[in-house]
This record gives sequence, C-alpha cells and structure tokens, in this order.
Amino acid sequence: MSIQRTFSIIKPDATARNITGKVNAKIEAAGLRIIAQKRLLLSEKQAAGFYAVHKNRPFYSDLVKFMMSGPVVVQVLEGENAIAAYRKVMGATNPSEADSGTIRAEFALSIDANTVHGSDAVDTASDEIKFFFTEEELVG
Ligand code: ATP
Ligand code: MG
Repeated sequence: MSIQRTFSIIKPDATARNITGKVNAKIEAAGLRIIAQKRLLLSEKQAAGFYAVHKNRPFYSDLVKFMMSGPVVVQVLEGENAIAAYRKVMGATNPSEADSGTIRAEFALSIDANTVHGSDAVDTASDEIKFFFTEEELVG
C-alpha cells in the first residue's frame, strides 16, 4: 500500500446536470482527498491531445467533441492506492456493466457520457496531472 496521486475529470454530462458535488461526495466517501480542482472549458487542442492515445479508435472524434461540449472539472486525487481506488469507485466504462454504488452506475448516461475519467496507471497519472496542473497548484 502506498499513497498515490491520480488524475480525474468530471465530464460535461455531469456539469450539465449540476451533479459535481454528488460525484465529489463519492470520491471523498472512498477515502480519496481532492487536493486540486478547477473547472474549465477544454480547447480542441487540449481535448484531442488528452485523448491522443485513442486517436485511431472509431469513437475518437465524438469523444473529443463531447469533452468540449461543456465545462469539465479537472482534479488531482490523493490517497492509499489512489489510482486503483478511484477506478473502483468510478465503475466500468460502460455504465450498464458498472457495479452498483459506483459513480458510473449511479450517474453515467451512456458509454460516452460516462461522467468521469480516471488515470489507469502510475505513468499516465503523472503525465495527466502535469497536462493540467503546475506543481504550485498541488497544495495537498
Ligand atoms: P476514461 O479514460 O475516460 O477514464 P476508461 O479508461 O474507462 O475511461 P477508455 O477505454 O480509456 O475507458 O476510453 C476513454 C473514453 O472513451 C471512455 O471513458 C468513453 O467515454 C469513451 N469510449 C470508450 N470506448 C467507447 C466506445 N466503444 N464507444 C464510445 N465511447 C467509448
Ligand atoms: Mg482510459
């Protein structure tokens, strides 16, 4: 067990429904601390760059458009095994497969409008945090 940081995005489907506080309550109930957070509108460059790993997938352009369709909340979460702990409380990518009690089971609308993003590994967490936050913004 170790203290880790992971990167989270509350996606436009959640800001549109005014449920960012409900998502944050789930994050905090899972023992994760929101150590940095800001609400912003992604530029095309940011959305396309962030999801560049998926650029050859058929859903890529729709995903980029969706992520620019309204405000998002970008966050850094800290806690014991934060990367896996957050993936667990997020639930499966497709909400119809997500375990009950997870963020996606409770709030996601579809496989694309699935409420949250969370990093999937130590190296991607570090890269994604740096994509949106400076060291000075990570106050603990
Ligand atoms: P995220 O990266 O957003 O945390 P994830 O790791 O569970 O989600 P990925 O496989 O990395 O899932 O896919 C990134 C995002 O692309 C998903 O969250 C979803 O919004 C979208 N996506 C993935 N697969 C599909 C699909 N088959 N159809 C439509 N959108 C998809
Ligand atoms: Mg992913």
